[in-house]
Amino acid sequence: MKKKKKKKPNPLIRIGVGLLAITLIVALSAAMTALLPKPESMPASAVAEPTAIPMPSPEPTITPTPAIYAPFGAQYGHGGADLIPETPTPKPTAVPTKTPTPEPTEQPTPTAKTYTTLRKGSTGPSVKALQEALRELGYLSDKADGNFGSNTQSAVIQFQAVNGLAADGLAGSQTQTLLFSGNALPASEAPKMDYLMLVNRENKLDKHFAPTDLVKIENVIPSSVLKVKYKGMQADRTATEALGRMLEDAIEDGVSNWQISSAYRTHAEQQALVDQSVNSYKKNNPSWSKARCLSATYQTVAPTGTSEHQTGLAFDITVPGVSFTGTPQQKWLHEHCYEYGFIVRFTEDKQSKTGFLAESWHFRYVGVEAAQVMTYNNWCLEEYIENMGL
Ligand SMILES: [Zn+2]
Repeated sequence: MKKKKKKKPNPLIRIGVGLLAITLIVALSAAMTALLPKPESMPASAVAEPTAIPMPSPEPTITPTPAIYAPFGAQYGHGGADLIPETPTPKPTAVPTKTPTPEPTEQPTPTAKTYTTLRKGSTGPSVKALQEALRELGYLSDKADGNFGSNTQSAVIQFQAVNGLAADGLAGSQTQTLLFSGNALPASEAPKMDYLMLVNRENKLDKHFAPTDLVKIENVIPSSVLKVKYKGMQADRTATEALGRMLEDAIEDGVSNWQISSAYRTHAEQQALVDQSVNSYKKNNPSWSKARCLSATYQTVAPTGTSEHQTGLAFDITVPGVSFTGTPQQKWLHEHCYEYGFIVRFTEDKQSKTGFLAESWHFRYVGVEAAQVMTYNNWCLEEYIENMGL
């Protein structure tokens, strides 16, 4: 039994040894072929495996392919979204929004020439260049000294008003671009004012409204005919010329000693008058609220934007040192002013229509024809405009 038992494993061992020998031979032969890569022709099947290792390198190129979609959509900007219907919608919409933004910010800077805003108080060569341009177009008579003062400011406002810009007196980029363009209207080509312009509590003037054809009153009417309360007072050219003819005729009739207390007032000057009055009421009546001071002010001072003085077509004509109502000057004017194109703008019987208390000294130029019709019919300007269907 023992022998049989001993004999039996023998063939198995033999087989195991035989298998080991075979595997050793195979392993050796494999090792031999691996150690002998030089002969390329013979072990082609074995060499094929190492060449398969570089093959995965084309596989990574599959990952770039989805990345192609992003630049594709971006190339087309907004329109690209329509060209990629299958790709998820959120992606193309997010990409185009980013691309247009840098473009507009880059474009204006190189194309439009920018100017530094010049204002009252500014000095230097840029102010001098501004003044020279204003002089050339007839808006400024002073020398170009490089100092932006009141006269330069007035010239800028006139330039802006004539050329349809917001008349704010600031020489910003828009104003300077037009001024230096060679296409601006000169002062001599200023459009005439609308002499029937209606200004009252319901019809306010814009903050940046300015008359187009202002003159200094003292340059048109000699001081022997008329005194100006403040030097440099301005008014519309046509209205001022009519005023001069009227007062010269009054003097021929023996009525003299004329003064202008107020003519053209800017929006800011009107605001200053309102503020001054409110402060005065508050000082004299400390218990009054600001609203009460304001309503008291508006009894006599026109709210900002509602004053005819901002048109340059109104004059407060007075007699120096005397209350105007009841003077021979007042009587002569009320009788003759329409002949020269003026009306007494605020009368007692029209207070409800004009919205202002009577002012015997306030004359408004409307032109001869309209002044005659209003006087003959006893119409105020509001009634004239309504009845004439204007
Ligand atoms: Zn007035």
